[in-house]
Amino acid sequence: MTPMTTPPYESRRDPHPAPRTPSEREAILAEPGFGVHFTDHMFLAEWTPDSGWRDARVVPYGPLSIDPATAVLHYAQEIFEGLKAYSHADGSVWLFRPEENAARLRRSAHRLALPELPDEWFLGSIRDLVTADRAWVPHGGETSLYLRPFMFASEVFLGVRPSKHVTYSVIASPAGAYFPGGVRPVSIWLSSDYSRAASGGTGAAKCGGNYAASLLPQQEAIDNGCAQVAFLDAEKHRWVEELGGMNLYFVQSDGSIVTPELTGSILEGITRDSILQIARDLGHEVVERRVSIDEWRDGTADGTITEVFACGTAAVVTPVGALKWDGGQAVAGDGEAGKVTMDVRSALVDLQYGRADDPHGWMRQVV
Ligand SMILES: *Cc1c(COP(=O)(O)O)cnc(C)c1O
Repeated sequence: MTPMTTPPYESRRDPHPAPRTPSEREAILAEPGFGVHFTDHMFLAEWTPDSGWRDARVVPYGPLSIDPATAVLHYAQEIFEGLKAYSHADGSVWLFRPEENAARLRRSAHRLALPELPDEWFLGSIRDLVTADRAWVPHGGETSLYLRPFMFASEVFLGVRPSKHVTYSVIASPAGAYFPGGVRPVSIWLSSDYSRAASGGTGAAKCGGNYAASLLPQQEAIDNGCAQVAFLDAEKHRWVEELGGMNLYFVQSDGSIVTPELTGSILEGITRDSILQIARDLGHEVVERRVSIDEWRDGTADGTITEVFACGTAAVVTPVGALKWDGGQAVAGDGEAGKVTMDVRSALVDLQYGRADDPHGWMRQVV
């Protein structure tokens, strides 16, 4: 569905009448955690087939009133994005490749039969919310303001067809460093019974439904002392796809780096894409190809694979220590964070926090 009738982006601001006091805010920013505290404002806009996207506004953060028959509650027609605003040393606030999030939200919308949001609207919504809640962008360390754009079927009806009323919103949550005590490798559980996404399914779309399908295996991972789940392809149960919410990289003993090629059931991470470039900049050969679960298991055992890491916006780059399954485990290297992993991580984080040059023009200043 193309946004034929959507007007040029223009928003209004309805400031919070009673925002949190500076001291309340500072108390939250001192220990923000992840995804538990939200800023004073949120962004909202609505779509209908007749008027396209309209009514862009920054309003006080608060509950949405939802009719019990709202379509998303029944058929999960919902998509989302995740990106961060970074505070630089001079007090300016920046985004990392937000156009990529705008483009991915459009692709996800297409797959979920939701209306595409014009990039101008997406970028405007982010800019306006971050500007309104600029005081909520944490400073120092690897802290950030996590931004969560999302879109859902808000028509009140129980029929199975694409919704004719759609809501788009952005909320913002101050986030502390993902690894406050230093970067530590995580253990990953190999799901043998469950798949995340099948060929022809919604694996390449960033939709809540994919996450719903991953929660039972995720619980299994936790029960087995692991932080996250690794999913294999749904058909052969042989090819490594990704974690529940992060893409995977394998460092080879010859210094080359391999990541599973995009097959339509893997989410195209913006961090994944950026690392393809950053690793090349650091002098590594980077290969996108299929990686079998046997290669992961045997390669870590015989030393062909020296490091494994996962990547995504929230945790940036996370070293993977052990891969565990029912009856065994395979540990990459010595089980500690590897050098290539940490070099890639530093290169990316330094760029995002304005401590390194931006040779690819990826950073966008908001305020
Ligand atoms: C969001 C997401 C990622 C990571 O994407 P980034 O753009 O790097 O944050 C990876 N896998 C899944 C399933 C995701 O939803």
